[in-house]
Amino acid sequence: MEVKADQIKTNFFSLSFKDLQNLLKSQNLKEAGASLLFNYVYKKLEFSPEIPNLSKETKTFLIENITFSLPRITQTQKNTASIVKQDTTKFLMAFPDGRRVESVLIPFQGKYTLCLSSQVGCAMNCSFCYTGTQGFDRHLSTEEIVGQVVSALSWLKEIGIKERVSNIVFMGQGEPLHNMSAVRKACEVFLSQNGLSLGREKITISTAGYLPGLKDWLSDPLPVNLALSLHSPNDNIRSELIPLNRKYPLREILSVIQKIPLEKKRFVTFEVLLIEGLNDSISFAHETAQLIKDLNPLINLIPFNPFPGTTYTRPSDKAIEEYKKVTESYGIATMVRRTKGDAILAACGQLKS
Ligand code: SF4
Repeated sequence: MEVKADQIKTNFFSLSFKDLQNLLKSQNLKEAGASLLFNYVYKKLEFSPEIPNLSKETKTFLIENITFSLPRITQTQKNTASIVKQDTTKFLMAFPDGRRVESVLIPFQGKYTLCLSSQVGCAMNCSFCYTGTQGFDRHLSTEEIVGQVVSALSWLKEIGIKERVSNIVFMGQGEPLHNMSAVRKACEVFLSQNGLSLGREKITISTAGYLPGLKDWLSDPLPVNLALSLHSPNDNIRSELIPLNRKYPLREILSVIQKIPLEKKRFVTFEVLLIEGLNDSISFAHETAQLIKDLNPLINLIPFNPFPGTTYTRPSDKAIEEYKKVTESYGIATMVRRTKGDAILAACGQLKS
């Protein structure tokens, strides 16, 4: 039997369930092999075609043509030096070409949220973001996005932690809507009953306002949650924070978001990064609430996380509470995201390769 080198094989983690079914079908193999293999890989975290009940022909085809290569975790960093298992953990994940990204595992009520990267670096250059200082290197492929999840799950299994990863957020390095096709297919794997089987409301994609990606979302709706980094209702300040706003101004973005159909009981999350003296005033809180109040909004207030070299500072708790009171007075559910992980630069806008 001639076995292909790993580099020219198809990576299993680049395939949606449908892709795998089609691949098997194209080889006159039974499609049922796809559900056996998907369940084995994503539920049991066993990465081999040598599984019971798979036909000999299918096994041979898979061995010759499929690889299960995953990003390598080269470093893990915990938020505290304690031996507490449930702790924020940042992973440095390396790909075969030597590029690296960070992913963060965040404990919440006995489960985990995993924050994923979608690109190596980022082209958006947001002024409050540590990743932005790195510039754009390249997009991640579907297998590299799915691989971050599978590597993190394998790590949890290895150290004997049974709690599940119940939520996935695209809030790590990169602008996910700038890499829409890879992100879209990764979501298919996460949502598939045969794959990770996550609920639609358990996945959130956060965008800085990349309009072409939002239009793509509108024309072919993604059944997951959308979050917009709003930060300021005022275009001048928003453009200072997110230079992309000069090209795609806020009102244009909101008019597309308004048209995206929402499923029952679903919200659009608006993230507001609060920076002392820049956008944390009461009048901005009123303007923000007025601007989005009809969009089924939920507001996430994120106190700024300092990183080396920044001139911005975090507002006082009092200023954050006052901002919250104003937006709530418009009937908008408002949460303050208490930063987990800023001690290891694992908080929002702090990831770097
Ligand atoms: S905040 Fe997000 S979109 Fe902006 S530079 Fe950082 S990673 Fe990119």
